[in-house]
Amino acid sequence: MTTDEEDVVAYEVRGAIAFVRLNRPQYRNAQNSKVTYALDAAFTRATNDDTVKVIVLGGNGDHFCAGHDIGTPGRDIHESFERKAVIWWDHVGAEGVDSRFARESEVYLGMCRRWREIPKPTIAMVQGACIAGGLMLAWSCDFIVASDDAFFQDPVVRMGIPGVEYFAHPWVTNPRAAKEMLFTGDRMPAQRAYELGMVNHLAPRAELEARTVEIAERMAQMPRLGLALAKKAVNQAEDLQGLRAGMDSVFGLHHAAHAHNAEVQGDSLAGVGIASIRDAGDRS
Ligand code: ZN
Repeated sequence: MTTDEEDVVAYEVRGAIAFVRLNRPQYRNAQNSKVTYALDAAFTRATNDDTVKVIVLGGNGDHFCAGHDIGTPGRDIHESFERKAVIWWDHVGAEGVDSRFARESEVYLGMCRRWREIPKPTIAMVQGACIAGGLMLAWSCDFIVASDDAFFQDPVVRMGIPGVEYFAHPWVTNPRAAKEMLFTGDRMPAQRAYELGMVNHLAPRAELEARTVEIAERMAQMPRLGLALAKKAVNQAEDLQGLRAGMDSVFGLHHAAHAHNAEVQGDSLAGVGIASIRDAGDRS
């Protein structure tokens, strides 16, 4: 299905900071493939712009991101895009696991890994909902600054699936908090995420951008190469703590769950659509 939505991602450079913003506020910034590739283009542009030292990822509207697009008119899972993250065949025209694995390796796990390796500091600026696919975007960034009314939630276990494709939960929180998050599907308030170390800083919503810019400007004082190498160093440490290998193994479990749903219920998402995710977002 095509959509007439324009500019699903907004891009702006102010000083040394590039602002990349999800721009589907009418759908709480639900992430379809068009958004994914627009994000990738924006990140590439910021990486190639020598004046940009730090990249801020935000979302226009009341919410950062409600997750992957599983029900808006702009849902585009059957469209082809030129692959950027992995070398694989097109998912379009393939069936079953052959299709799902190809698609999710590229637009979910592959893209998030690709963005994690952007050689400039990235800061997620999170307000309101950060649900499922939204977590993947925030977790791919180096830093998270959240408004004190933000919340983080992975309700994907409701589909019988062990969490989102970029399975960073145990590393960005801790194993017990990860289990709580997954087993309950509940919202994790920003304050709790801050206490667990997932969020770097909290700010009142009205001050979120100013606080984020203040931090970004401090980083921008550092030499570009120093920042890039420091980022690589910490990412390597995280990988040595099992992040990368762990995600690979969980990606297999994730696809076993999709396949089970498709085999038993005829739907890889177990019949869970946008309404359920919306309910999850609305539940206080
Ligand atoms: Zn999936």
